[in-house]
Amino acid sequence: MKKTGEVVSYQLSNEYFERAKKVIPGGVHSPVRSFKNLDRSPVFFEKGVGPHLFSVDGERYIDYCLSFGPLILGHQDPTVKEEVLKMLDKGWTFGACEKYSLDLAEWVIANIPFVDKLRFVSSGTEAVMSALRIARAVTGRNKILKFDGCYHGHVDSLLVKSGSGLAGESSTSSAGVSPQVASETLVCTLNDLKQLEEIIQREKYNLAAVIIEPLPANYGLLIQTQEFLLGLQNLCKKNNILLILDEVISGFRISLGGMSELYNLQPDLVCYGKIIGGGFPVGCYAGRAEYMNAVAPLGNVYQAGTLSANPVGMVAGLATLKKLKEQNIYAILDEKTSYLASRLNSLFTELNTGLNCTHFQSLFWIHAKTDKPIRTISEIPTNQMQLFKNMFLKALDRNIYLAPNAYEVGFMSAAHSADDLALTINSLYEILK
Ligand code: PLP
Repeated sequence: MKKTGEVVSYQLSNEYFERAKKVIPGGVHSPVRSFKNLDRSPVFFEKGVGPHLFSVDGERYIDYCLSFGPLILGHQDPTVKEEVLKMLDKGWTFGACEKYSLDLAEWVIANIPFVDKLRFVSSGTEAVMSALRIARAVTGRNKILKFDGCYHGHVDSLLVKSGSGLAGESSTSSAGVSPQVASETLVCTLNDLKQLEEIIQREKYNLAAVIIEPLPANYGLLIQTQEFLLGLQNLCKKNNILLILDEVISGFRISLGGMSELYNLQPDLVCYGKIIGGGFPVGCYAGRAEYMNAVAPLGNVYQAGTLSANPVGMVAGLATLKKLKEQNIYAILDEKTSYLASRLNSLFTELNTGLNCTHFQSLFWIHAKTDKPIRTISEIPTNQMQLFKNMFLKALDRNIYLAPNAYEVGFMSAAHSADDLALTINSLYEILK
């Protein structure tokens, strides 16, 4: 293992990336992993333990990406690992009824007041896609409203951004999404109740649902006010439009009941992913029985999956959730993240970096400094990319692994120690000095 201060090696990572680019588009299975816009090849990892990732070059990194959120207990949490190993001794997929998903379903329902029934799928994208299908089926309407800057997975109808015309109009944000599909999704600006009211007034008879990340964390950390979220909920209720909360990131991370619990929200449907599978591919859509009963075989909304409710993911998810609850890990996570953010902000100010760290519970985002909180994508300063890139690359050279994109958030885990935080703060101080 290299000592602090020695030059970080990327040689084997670079070789792997050259090989990967020959057989995988862009060398990656998900675009953000490619370090695009960072002018550097990505690091290849071979092991994760606690808060650390180990590269193929033998480097140890403090990991603040944590697989983009699922690993709230860190890599290879011993309790989760024990359950997974026990499960592997019994099998890893049955494609039939089993008790493991039932245990997890009952636990979630017992802990989330507005959830009567749920379905497990294999990703957050699938969860969102299925929730939208229910909304269209039960309302008999086709349009969906989303917010600019919220990401809900790669389902066609949500790969849209605001258009240039009338408020609410959209355009595709990916090639291959048909304009017809995109036109059924309306896009509103975050934190703008007036615009929302205007769109809903105009489209209320066409709108099946409004979907939102209650804590938008995919285009920076765009913290919404409780007033805005409650206003949105009221507008939906008043106009009989379903409210779908996408808690794929915030669910079981902000608190056990996610943003819904924290802000006293009562969605009609909710989507989970990431933490609910303890680091295995699990998604979940859930909500009131009257809507969930629309799903086949009970109702006529079709949704299925060969590996849905995979038992390994089910036991990993349940072990994770139980540990989060029993050990009251949220208070500790909040304390650690507040500490990191405040120390970073002191050094950013002292060194006149133009950076700022915003945090919300165990999520944080390092961004170009602004006078007031950033709540919409248009409020993100234009130098964000450049400032982030400079810091990211230097942090990487000091064995700190942040999510490799200026608009991705950082994640804290229960496994990060006081020493990890001190090393992070000291290294960033050295880098930015
Ligand atoms: N919704 C939100 C809020 C997400 O952050 C993500 C993924 O990052 C998704 C949905 C899609 O989940 P998945 O990547 O598991 O398909």
